[in-house]
Amino acid sequence: MPDTGTQKQNPLQYITDQLNDLRAKGVAPKLRVLEGEQKTLCTFDGREVINLASNNYLGLTTHKALRKAALEAVRKYGAGAGAVRTIAGTMKLHMELEEQIARFKNVEACVVFQSGFTANAGTVSAVLGKEDLIVSDELNHASIIDGARLSKATIKVFKHKDVQDCERILEETAAWPGHKLIITDGVFSMDGDIAPLPQLCDLAEKHNCIMMVDDAHASGVLGRGGRGSIDHFNCHGRVHIQVGTLSKAIGAMGGYVCGSRDLIEFLYLRARPFLFSTSHPPATAAACQAAFTLLDSPEGEKLVKKLWANTKYFKRELKRRGFKFAASETPIIPIHVGDAAKAFEFSRQLFEAGVFAPAVGFPTVAEGKARLRAIVSAAHKREHLLRAADILAEVAKPLGII
Ligand SMILES: *Cc1c(COP(=O)(O)O)cnc(C)c1O
Repeated sequence: MPDTGTQKQNPLQYITDQLNDLRAKGVAPKLRVLEGEQKTLCTFDGREVINLASNNYLGLTTHKALRKAALEAVRKYGAGAGAVRTIAGTMKLHMELEEQIARFKNVEACVVFQSGFTANAGTVSAVLGKEDLIVSDELNHASIIDGARLSKATIKVFKHKDVQDCERILEETAAWPGHKLIITDGVFSMDGDIAPLPQLCDLAEKHNCIMMVDDAHASGVLGRGGRGSIDHFNCHGRVHIQVGTLSKAIGAMGGYVCGSRDLIEFLYLRARPFLFSTSHPPATAAACQAAFTLLDSPEGEKLVKKLWANTKYFKRELKRRGFKFAASETPIIPIHVGDAAKAFEFSRQLFEAGVFAPAVGFPTVAEGKARLRAIVSAAHKREHLLRAADILAEVAKPLGII
């Protein structure tokens, strides 16, 4: 090629342009860096803050039983699994964990994935194909949406928690030749509200659909000892595919799918993240086992009760100070701001004042629906929640949020 003398162009220049645009709009927050442990009072970016940002609902990330199990597993089995599950990466620890979760959830079988994200995306795309229909709540998690897209099935979205709208879709598609799946989050991650599971199960039974629930925010939170939304609503036997995460209340990392033995054995053969991505390190599997042992004990029940007592207390203190969050039924507390730049500013000022609660804007929530999201933990002390409520009110008032 002759040298034309033109300047070398950067093919990624458009990324820089887009980024600069986001920065100018004030919607490109920096990552907060945690120094030390994930706890309710901890240090991010050199500042001690009350942590309302974590999904560590029960304080298990630093629990001594999980630490001990992880350390022992490292000593005994090393640092990594060395292969995908279907080649050489299935360790006894992985099988024991799956059996333990299946018992805990009162189902036939369970498969553990590397994350809740891969559990959803891998399962939806393995179970459904391009002839099939997915009927999905409009606020379902991104991993469900990605799994649905990967499946190439037709996707129809019903209005958030709107059982009638879901039924309308099912009636309109009554003659659908392929398989049909109704899918919902158990607890919605950005609003903290709970899906109308019994009514959706009724629809699934009436219209012969597969019923699938993503219980990422319900695992360890709802139901007896944190058994999830199926237990909470006593819908045992009515949900064919239950997804949960090991990354939130369970305190470690991973996701799982519970269902019939045949469903699980099929996923062993067809779920792409299971087939093509290495399994958990021994420490992770062992820590998860310790977490479920704990949840299944009186201490676990006590932690779940404490989580709900703290949630009630914090919501009452916030309401007293003029905050509203009507939709929330769980420890997830969204404080509506609307404008994304203002939500990020609210979060930044809170951080300066000693409270860490992240702002969420597009694409995590819809444009114009930016909010601050606070999450309560069983590990919060009352005095911290009280101080956090005071600081939230002090910062929110001048911004016109309350
Ligand atoms: C967090 C979350 C996931 C993903 O779980 P990870 O284990 O973090 O990958 C899936 N679904 C919902 C509803 C979630 O909130």
